[in-house]
Amino acid sequence: MDVFADIANQPVVAAPATAKRLEKLGIRRRFDFVLHLPLRYEDETHLYTIADAPYGQAVLVEGEVIASEVQFKPRRQLLVQIEDRTGTLNLRFIHFYPSQQKQLAKGRRVRALGEIKRGYHGDEIIHPKIREVIEGDALADHLTPIYPTVNGLTQPVLRRLIAAELKVQDLADTLPVEERRRLDLVDFADAVRLLHSPTPEYSAKDLTNPALPAWQRLKFDELLAQQLSMRLAYRARRKGRALPLVGSGALRRRLAEALPFALTGAQSRVLAEIDADLARTHPMHRLLQGDVGSGKTIVAAMAALSAIEAGHQVALMAPTEILAEQHYLKLSGWLSPLGVEVVWLSGSLKKKQKTEAMARIADGSARLAVGTHALFQDDVAFASLGLAIVDEQHRFGVGQRLALKDKGGEAQAHQLMMSATPIPRTLAMSFYADLDVSVIDELPPGRTPIVTKLINANRRDEVVEFVRRTVAEGRQVYWVCPLIEESEALELQTAVDTHAQLAEDLPELKVGLVHGRLKPAEKAEVMAAFARNELQLLVATTVIEVGVDVPNASLMVIEHAERMGLAQLHQLRGRVGRGAARSSCVLLFETPLSEIAKARLKVIYENTDGFEIARQDLLIRGPGEFLGARQSGVPMLRFANLEEDLALLEEARALAPQMLKEHPGLAEAHLTRWLAGREHFLEA
Ligand code: ADP
Ligand code: MG
Repeated sequence: MDVFADIANQPVVAAPATAKRLEKLGIRRRFDFVLHLPLRYEDETHLYTIADAPYGQAVLVEGEVIASEVQFKPRRQLLVQIEDRTGTLNLRFIHFYPSQQKQLAKGRRVRALGEIKRGYHGDEIIHPKIREVIEGDALADHLTPIYPTVNGLTQPVLRRLIAAELKVQDLADTLPVEERRRLDLVDFADAVRLLHSPTPEYSAKDLTNPALPAWQRLKFDELLAQQLSMRLAYRARRKGRALPLVGSGALRRRLAEALPFALTGAQSRVLAEIDADLARTHPMHRLLQGDVGSGKTIVAAMAALSAIEAGHQVALMAPTEILAEQHYLKLSGWLSPLGVEVVWLSGSLKKKQKTEAMARIADGSARLAVGTHALFQDDVAFASLGLAIVDEQHRFGVGQRLALKDKGGEAQAHQLMMSATPIPRTLAMSFYADLDVSVIDELPPGRTPIVTKLINANRRDEVVEFVRRTVAEGRQVYWVCPLIEESEALELQTAVDTHAQLAEDLPELKVGLVHGRLKPAEKAEVMAAFARNELQLLVATTVIEVGVDVPNASLMVIEHAERMGLAQLHQLRGRVGRGAARSSCVLLFETPLSEIAKARLKVIYENTDGFEIARQDLLIRGPGEFLGARQSGVPMLRFANLEEDLALLEEARALAPQMLKEHPGLAEAHLTRWLAGREHFLEA
């Protein structure tokens, strides 16, 4: 296996220009050629006569050129006519080189590959692939693979490079033989050989069918490599050292007594899972998932108290100033009465306040630091950071999380990541498989479901009336202005205009405005006024998307809902329905709607469960965007498809730990084959 690994991992040797192009295709080391598989196939194994060649598929015909001329009307083009013993056929080229013209001179014998269409002047092939024939030339004995490529790298060159590697690379199987049999998978070598140079009994259609055993094998191997590397990343983390955080429970009990509610069963359960992790001497990496409004903040507060009772510090980070500030207010409201010092740290603080906050963090008097990514900065030093909590973790990059890890000093801080964007099961099983996950699967009691309405924007008047009635009942309303991706200035202007218009339409109400350009202090002031019900209607840009919590707000109006993504709509809608009042979300849309916008609005209208929405979102968008920050550094799947290949994913997931235990050599060989040099991508 050593020799195998050596040849497999040798860097590609090629002229610099070629190497650059190969790099673009992801081919860096020699084994990458083996895994560079065809997109489709062309059939040059069968020669048709012109008269018998069928329509509707690419065919190979052979004949003698009987006419060849460049025409200029209606545009410049090369028209060629060939003839065999059964008939004639036109070949038409709109782009052509002089060399092709020469190749197609009258009297030459050629083979042409392409689809025959009925043309104005009779049957023709447009831009056929042309090959000159010497009398008695044999036909190809297998289908011709067509590879993904880039400009400047032709199929024949790529084909030659790949064929050469296939001859020398060790294609020995990396699956334990009994597992391969149990899973009914074909041999690896057979699979890649078949896909690169198929035998005659396979049609082009067979070969591109994802259910073909050869493809099943490659998909499985790819998923297995991913699972193995996730397991290894997980193991590596568990080798790290962390402070065991076990508190007396005294502060927690006092907070519980002061709360106007009791934790739900789901909240207590996840808290117990977190507690068990915190008590260990290796760092926790736990993702706490809970739909919008499920009550993650109090769980975070309780977890923080364990660390604080154990004598260490806690950092809580949120992706936006507004959200961080809300957390600060809420948490200091809960913890200050217990004598726990909470400090606030954000980029917007004045220098003096910032220095002061940092000093409190450094000397350990601040037990909990709440803030934005300012907490990550190098000059922030903790006396003894035991636990780092990251809210809305998917909004932070991997790099930022890494920076936080280092703040723990010698021992690593435990990490609790919270997210309201539910990860669909397939993603959780694959790209997030290295994290432990806790799920709050129950909303606090006493909530009434939110009623969602889709309303055409030309009925805005009725919506304004609805706002008036809602406020008359003592409730409050959010009005979210459209997202304008192309121009922040325009977005701001729209918000200002909307605010002015609504203030005019609803003179009896106090109408506030919050947007991204306000200074953090101003933003906080508006939000606080809204929280105190001094403002009844809050006009906002999408800055209120995450985490804002005003239980008395029972109506959310979203303008141009068709421009927003599903996760965003779900988050926005979750701002209401937090109290006992019956809540509504009005989605205003403008016609005409694109197909994708229609699909999204239908999903948000029909579903309230965040997991289902996320699953649908994944179907509509594919996993790329969903992965967000994770995506950087994580090799995306090339062959497997998370939705289609769920069964394979489940098998790979089950096999990975077993293989690491019972066949570590094969596991290593498998990882080398698939992910050489990239297996440590998840050290965060
Ligand atoms: P999210 O999970 O979206 O961050 P929050 O932590 O902001 O949700 O909680 C939403 C609202 O529910 C807050 O007003 C919070 O005080 C309240 N809440 C949390 N837990 C409970 C509970 N067990 N019973 C009643 N209300 C709760
Ligand atoms: Mg929250």
